[in-house]
Amino acid sequence: MPGRTLSIRPPSVMRAGVALALALGLLAADPVGAAETPAASVPTPPPLPPERPETLKPPIAEPAPPTPPARPPELKPAVAEPAKEPVKDPGREKAFESAKEGPKEGSKDFAKEASKPEIPTPPPAPPERPPELSGGAALALKVSPPDDTACRTRLKRLGVDFEPLAPIAEGQCTAPLPLKVTKFADGVALPQGATLTCRAAEALARWVTEVQVEAERTLKHPLTALELGGSYVCRGQNHDIDAKLSEHAFANAADIMGFAFAGRASIPVKAMPDGSEEAQFLGAVRTKACGFFRTVLGPGSNAAHANHLHVDQRERNAGHRLCE
Ligand SMILES: [Zn+2]
Repeated sequence: MPGRTLSIRPPSVMRAGVALALALGLLAADPVGAAETPAASVPTPPPLPPERPETLKPPIAEPAPPTPPARPPELKPAVAEPAKEPVKDPGREKAFESAKEGPKEGSKDFAKEASKPEIPTPPPAPPERPPELSGGAALALKVSPPDDTACRTRLKRLGVDFEPLAPIAEGQCTAPLPLKVTKFADGVALPQGATLTCRAAEALARWVTEVQVEAERTLKHPLTALELGGSYVCRGQNHDIDAKLSEHAFANAADIMGFAFAGRASIPVKAMPDGSEEAQFLGAVRTKACGFFRTVLGPGSNAAHANHLHVDQRERNAGHRLCE
């Protein structure tokens, strides 16, 4: 037998193999049997790696991960409560499933989650939203409305009666800082009132003073009221729902249906006989409106404006105006 082994490997290699095997304790139990086994059946174990120096050895015991501090008793849910709930409550299981994904802030599950015993620390409560940032006010902040303070001061100096309204947000129809305008200088009334941006209200107020001048000059009767067909309306241009949103949808426009005077019949906005004082008055105030508004449309512009003057403050490229 040894002869066969020797014929396969040189004795020195054989001895080294046995020595290694012995060192590993593999042959201790049956050295004879091992000797009889051909070397092929006892593979040479790889040399042992050198002993690691003490300095490089990892600490014997890994430090245990820190355990969360024990919950104070006042935060623990009532001991009896979980037992009361049936184990197979599908609602609770469903709630648990959704809780794994993280409940929505403020949801019922959120509060439920916070009181569950398996969660050691409840997530911190979100900071309280300041009241001035909620609802419409928050929306208004998002669109960064212009500061209307200076405009409102001018409006007061112009003798306009107005009060601020809540921000308007009806789908795409928006007005972050609308005003309810009820009266102009000289007691010129707006019987229907008008919901307008400060800028549109200011333009209207300045124009009304010019209308008053024209009434005294052409008609010899003072203007007492402006009859409006509408100011803020959430709609498309020319009442076409498919059209681009009208400036009325931004409280940036007004439709003037007619003018009322002291001691004289009102003048409705419509085509008047050439040469009449009504035609002269309407023509003059319409031309003046082009100095205050970016858009002025009326009888003759198109069929939609045959019975009123539409005025608005639509922004156009390079400050272009539409005065027809
Ligand atoms: Zn209009």
